[in-house]
Amino acid sequence: MTPTEVKEELKKCVKCGACMAVCPIYRQTGREDMVARGKLNLIEIVENNQDLPATWLEAVDNCLLCCSCEENCSKGVRITEVIAAARVHQTETLGLNPIKKGAFALLKNRIFSIARFIKLGYLGQWLLWRRLPRHSGLVRRIPLPGFDDKTVIPALPKRNLDDLLRRRKVAQELKPILFFPGCATRYLHPEMGLDIIFVLEKLGFKAIVPTEFNCCGLVTWGAGDAASSSKLKQGNLKVLRDNSEIRQLVTGCASCGHALKEYEQRPPEIEILDISEFLFRHRKALEDLIGSRKLKQKVTYHDPCHLRKGQGITAAPRWLLKLIAGDNFIEMSHPERCCGAGGTFGISHKELSRKILNEKTRDADATGAEIVASGCPGCILQLTEGAVVADSRWLAKHPLSLLAELLRRE
Ligand code: SF4
Ligand code: SF4
Repeated sequence: MTPTEVKEELKKCVKCGACMAVCPIYRQTGREDMVARGKLNLIEIVENNQDLPATWLEAVDNCLLCCSCEENCSKGVRITEVIAAARVHQTETLGLNPIKKGAFALLKNRIFSIARFIKLGYLGQWLLWRRLPRHSGLVRRIPLPGFDDKTVIPALPKRNLDDLLRRRKVAQELKPILFFPGCATRYLHPEMGLDIIFVLEKLGFKAIVPTEFNCCGLVTWGAGDAASSSKLKQGNLKVLRDNSEIRQLVTGCASCGHALKEYEQRPPEIEILDISEFLFRHRKALEDLIGSRKLKQKVTYHDPCHLRKGQGITAAPRWLLKLIAGDNFIEMSHPERCCGAGGTFGISHKELSRKILNEKTRDADATGAEIVASGCPGCILQLTEGAVVADSRWLAKHPLSLLAELLRRE
């Protein structure tokens, strides 16, 4: 967003305070400078100022970019884009946090890549981390800075999705469709990617997963690293242009879908769809495939912010869960509330993130569900941590993993 566009957005705010009712940070802190209205005020005051006061930095930093305020703003202020622009201003003025700088370098580099880094991590992870008996994830074995004994990190896989797909044979007569797995599915949870590909194949589609796809760029954008974000985006745009004869792209990651749909200069002939949207369009074929099979477990649903507020998708995932769980699907209270993950927020603001998460966990517990479904790998990891912290009985899963499980059942 350019400085002129930021000014235009700031002018649109009428200070009505409707954003206060929905901001998870405000709900926990009760502080005016933590809600969109307060943040926009501060951003306006120090606009173009090289001297960034601590209050400004704190307000800009304490945001999940969850879009809850945007969904509730009758003036249509593009709040998250203004906050991201403020973070770019901060990065240009003070530089980028060195840990984020190192992590983002891995996302951009093809030699010292995230894939290689994770393969190294796979070899050493058991020294410092131990597997959780019920959940897919690890907790620390020994005291580690920044991690308490309930912090869940993903168990790193031996083979990523690219490795697994290289060995896989697919019938050529299937109709090609682009699949954007996103970094979490590609490198941390390849089984989730295989579940989505399996369902696509059952419906007659062959998933094309170009290894040249980059990270979608949402995490770098949210951190104010405009240069990295642009580089990642340009790489993805090239892949889209090179494959523009394939007219549809699906993703199972709410955040990636949100980011990809926002790409300017996206080839107009390629339609970007969340996997739930795509399946809803093929509902007759899917209903026939499922037949009378139903999941036996009780399932509830958490709306990923980037699916509900970022893309306006609420009905398709619910239709899918009702299809596979029938009467065993139960709504939780406040399914729309953010879980507190917010990209790297759950790591950098552990205490606040945990408070937000605890509310979500209580709402999930109250349903008596055995599974909390959510179409975002980031939410799934955060929810898993919530279940571990509260010693809850449920597991967090992607709706497509539940669907694949059902379709594999004879
Ligand atoms: S809801 Fe929108 S217009 Fe109202 S105070 Fe918040 S940002 Fe401003
Ligand atoms: S994006 Fe979310 S956390 Fe940030 S100000 Fe808006 S509601 Fe609050």
